[in-house]
Amino acid sequence: MKIKKNFIAATMLAGATTVLSFLSAGSAQAQGALVMYCGVQEEWCRAMTTAFERETGIKVSMTRKSSGEIYAQVKAEGANPRADIWWGGTGDPHMQAAEEGLTVEYTSPKNAELQDWAIRQWEQSKNRTIGIYSGALGFGYNTDLIKSKGVAEPKCWADLLNVKFKDEVQMADPNSSGTAYTLLATIVQLMGEEKGFEYLKALHKNVNQYTKSGAAPAKAMALGETTIGIAFMHDIVTMLVDKAPIKVVAPCEGTGYEIGSMSIIKGAKNMDSAKKFYDWALTPAAQKLGADAKSYQVPSNKATPVPPEAPKLSEIKLINFDFAKYGSSDERKRLLSKWDNEVKNLPK
Ligand code: PLP
Repeated sequence: MKIKKNFIAATMLAGATTVLSFLSAGSAQAQGALVMYCGVQEEWCRAMTTAFERETGIKVSMTRKSSGEIYAQVKAEGANPRADIWWGGTGDPHMQAAEEGLTVEYTSPKNAELQDWAIRQWEQSKNRTIGIYSGALGFGYNTDLIKSKGVAEPKCWADLLNVKFKDEVQMADPNSSGTAYTLLATIVQLMGEEKGFEYLKALHKNVNQYTKSGAAPAKAMALGETTIGIAFMHDIVTMLVDKAPIKVVAPCEGTGYEIGSMSIIKGAKNMDSAKKFYDWALTPAAQKLGADAKSYQVPSNKATPVPPEAPKLSEIKLINFDFAKYGSSDERKRLLSKWDNEVKNLPK
């Protein structure tokens, strides 16, 4: 009950902050404040904003949205960009924006300190986006609900098709959510496209809601509003740390992962501040703020301590995720429209 109240309060506060920062973004831009589009959880976005302001004296006007929504906004504003820096969210829309020339090349002096996977992302995008964290996809289940239903604990993607889970699985919509797009690309790579879409159609029968944000299913599962939530494992760990009655699963068949990314917007009105933020965001001091805000990804600077709560990527069966292919503009558009046409609108 206490957990539920905390969640509701946090969600309301998060919504209010987003609206406030959204309203103030226009005037802030005129005053030379750095305009940041932030793709992670609200708490972490706010911690980054406050720390950067304190460190540099540069004001930040932050708007939090899901990965696909930020991409759509950056694209819509392409002729007259409002934002300077896009920090966080899955790498695929950052890669798509890079290919479409919506973001600029940048080489940070901090590159030398980063993990190989972060630099690979930068190289594959022709220096336009860089890895800031990584984390594996999975699902979680509410142990109380599983017990009350008398169903075996799910361990594999295949288990989510059990008829006993009808209307008991929640995931996000891959158009708005990078988490759900990672699921779509993971299933296609794991099972092949034909079988993968058969799987997603069968899963649709058990899905109670396609949420806008990728972490929402983890929150709903923790609250007991859905038995199973598909999300990044680190987002489920956040609920576990808050003592929700849940378990986190690395699916037995193997799973995909993300490289959360950062890009500078082409035509940024505060280019110097954007570069300052970019360099700072790659430092261990800035990256450490993730764990402080209960976000347990693996950070990209080799010297940033990996939070002990972070799911250990070396112990998870990861697929060889093709970030270049699934972040390409054509493939992303094709897969999303196929999912809309063949899965989302399917009757149950
Ligand atoms: N929040 C956290 C903590 C994440 O790790 C990610 C993935 O990059 C996201 C949010 C992305 O959210 P969404 O699926 O809503 O785009």
